[in-house]
Amino acid sequence: MQTSFPPELLADPAMRNSESVIRKCVHCGFCTATCPTYVLLGDELDSPRGRIYLIKDMLENDRTPGPEEVKHVDRCLSCLSCMTTCPSGVNYMHLVDHARAHIEERYRRPAMERLLRAVLAWVLPHPERFRLALALAPLARPLQPLLRRSVALRPLAAMLELAPRRVPAPAPAAAPAVPSRRGRVALLQGCAEPVLRPEFREATMRLLARCGHAVVFARGEGCCGALVHHMGREADALAAARRNVDAWMVEIEGEGLDAILVTASGCGTTIKDYGFMLRNDPAYAEKAARVSALALDVSEYLSRIELPAATPRGLTVAYHPACSLQHGQKVTEEPKRLLGQAGYAVRVPHEAHLCCGSAGTYNILQPDIAGRLGERKAAALEALGADVVATGNVGCATQIARFAGLPVVHTVELLDWATGGPLPAALASLSQE
Ligand code: SF4
Ligand code: SF4
Repeated sequence: MQTSFPPELLADPAMRNSESVIRKCVHCGFCTATCPTYVLLGDELDSPRGRIYLIKDMLENDRTPGPEEVKHVDRCLSCLSCMTTCPSGVNYMHLVDHARAHIEERYRRPAMERLLRAVLAWVLPHPERFRLALALAPLARPLQPLLRRSVALRPLAAMLELAPRRVPAPAPAAAPAVPSRRGRVALLQGCAEPVLRPEFREATMRLLARCGHAVVFARGEGCCGALVHHMGREADALAAARRNVDAWMVEIEGEGLDAILVTASGCGTTIKDYGFMLRNDPAYAEKAARVSALALDVSEYLSRIELPAATPRGLTVAYHPACSLQHGQKVTEEPKRLLGQAGYAVRVPHEAHLCCGSAGTYNILQPDIAGRLGERKAAALEALGADVVATGNVGCATQIARFAGLPVVHTVELLDWATGGPLPAALASLSQE
């Protein structure tokens, strides 16, 4: 795609990068067929190619975007399906991240939206605040029908729908001791996952301990920054990245780490991108690149180490590949292979490349599109006739559980169970049948 950025704009490294991304696009439109918002809405401006044109116009002319442009960028899930499809190697992720930061800086959203986004950015990355908000959710539930009637307040209704009826107890803060150590890894503690599904981390710690791999939690580490990054809050995202790099560098330079493991693939995609995000910061560029190089999805690490012998549990698993895992990290075969090796029959749904509608805060901020995608995904998974859905991202697990009549677990919970761990909590009903 031809561009005409003025030279003074190209002095900014972010603009230079976006220009080079845009120039790679050859307008072929292959990406439109696999873009969930284009598939649902059929509007070119809700396709990757249409958004690239909008972003190009906005950046190249150094313009404050209008509500229409913001609407189409906001509707993007950042699912990165377009990146898997694109034959020209267009890095849409970096382009849309830049566009969101530009919008956040220049565009004044309506008051209610500003408030909602500020609350999400203040609550979600902090487990204690998030846990408290979930504990208070039942008080607001009676207002749900009223909230659903107003377009501006519908995100609040979506938030209440996503809140679990019971807030789970936190996972243990320390991993089990490992007698003879074959490896040492840091496990991301994260923000939303330990609050919503603490059993994911517990299963991971048990399984790694059984394999002889010590797990550490780096002191001072917190939310990876993905949630605020996708809302365009670049300074907050970079602050989160720097804090985590500092925390992990202490471990890397101390006893050493074989990997930094992530059980929520949405976070993994962002941590693997820290090297890029901090590339222009001389104090952090090299350290961030080291951290990104060590970051692995838990399924990648488990594929590289020796696992204990498995007892087949006789279940058929519908595997839902999270977009952040399949498109963001290109990890596609490992989870299925691990489940198969552990004795599960694995099935993959129709349209596995399409997002379930979770996408960070998307199912709160864009509840209508997210709901349609959630229903479509649930129907595809239910059609497989499986006993359980397995996935590698807490956002997907929450979204799918809302729409599908099947238990939803993390892939690691099934591996832990097959190799001697307890029955996953979400499968308790199966044992009673
Ligand atoms: S990231 Fe997903 S929703 Fe956004 S343009 Fe690409 S395919 Fe479409
Ligand atoms: S597939 Fe790639 S090159 Fe083709 S229009 Fe989409 S982003 Fe551009």
